[in-house]
Amino acid sequence: MNVRQVSLRRWAALKGWTTRRSFTSSVILAVLSFASPAAAQLPSIRVVATGGTIAGTGSGDLSAADLVARIPELSKVARISTEDFSRIGSSSMTPELQHRLARRINELFASPDAPAGIVITHGTDSLEETSFLLDLLIESDRPVVFAAAQRPPSEPDSDGPRNLLNAVRVAASPQARGAGVLVTLNGEIHAARDVRKTHAVSLDAFKSPDGGGPVGHIDGSHVVIGRKPLRRLTLRPQAVEPRVELLTLTAGSDGRLILAAAEFAQAIVLEVFGRGNMAPVIMQAVGKVREKGVIVVFTTRTRGGRVELSTEANAAGVISGEDLDGLKARMLLVAALGVTRDPKVLQSYFERLAGR
Ligand code: ASP
Repeated sequence: MNVRQVSLRRWAALKGWTTRRSFTSSVILAVLSFASPAAAQLPSIRVVATGGTIAGTGSGDLSAADLVARIPELSKVARISTEDFSRIGSSSMTPELQHRLARRINELFASPDAPAGIVITHGTDSLEETSFLLDLLIESDRPVVFAAAQRPPSEPDSDGPRNLLNAVRVAASPQARGAGVLVTLNGEIHAARDVRKTHAVSLDAFKSPDGGGPVGHIDGSHVVIGRKPLRRLTLRPQAVEPRVELLTLTAGSDGRLILAAAEFAQAIVLEVFGRGNMAPVIMQAVGKVREKGVIVVFTTRTRGGRVELSTEANAAGVISGEDLDGLKARMLLVAALGVTRDPKVLQSYFERLAGR
């Protein structure tokens, strides 16, 4: 149902007309054919809802159509259609669901009446992971923009409606074409490769510290995109590999967690110290799991900068995650292991995403 349909349905209800779908739909179609030609010129944007605080309390109370109906201004920006993908808090997202979402977006863009852009509403908790996986898997250069909220619709100052309106503005903007998957909150536009949730409650929680900050912003009704991300990669896996674990070294880590993870994981992302440092006992554990054939990627736990592999790590066939943080490095493996298990090819993917 699009926004015009939502408001027409409300208008029909006010007039005391029946709200039966078939009757309403024909009234809507009839009225739409006389609707302003300006509206027909607007880009078509699909809003796909997955749940999250933007839709309710975390379990996703509002549907995509409900979310859209709450923002009348949307009808001046785009012709909106909606669909519900899921209604979950994003802490319940899984690689399989994320992959299914990516396939759905590719399907929408491949259809004869493909929208000009797609907005995905999502929880903030795993937004940085889902948006990056989609950045790796979406084949179209049409805009895909994530919208989320830190405050639910029940709050008088919820940030959801503004963030959704802004996301639709970005998705409808020709500037967003070829910019990869974008994330829009708090008036800023971030590249999926770089964005991180950095605060549990602040409205200004999403940052791209290592990517040089946001790629753009929304100024009133104007979308301003200053640069497009160059460090991108598109993969086409048939299936994704969810059995990728993320571990962080701490002072005193003795390697037992690494050995335990190797019992079930196909790959381990290890956030090591600084530029690539670790106690000898850790390198011994890594050597053992590599002998079992488990893929190991090192990233830095500093959340900034690049990892440089030692001679021993290189000899053991460890992969450098370059400057991706642990969460993003894991998502790259989730997608890439559906394409190859060759450490050299996997290393080349990380290097491509590091701009090398
Ligand atoms: N629990 C929520 C989620 O689905 C938090 C949020 O959306 O801000 O991620």
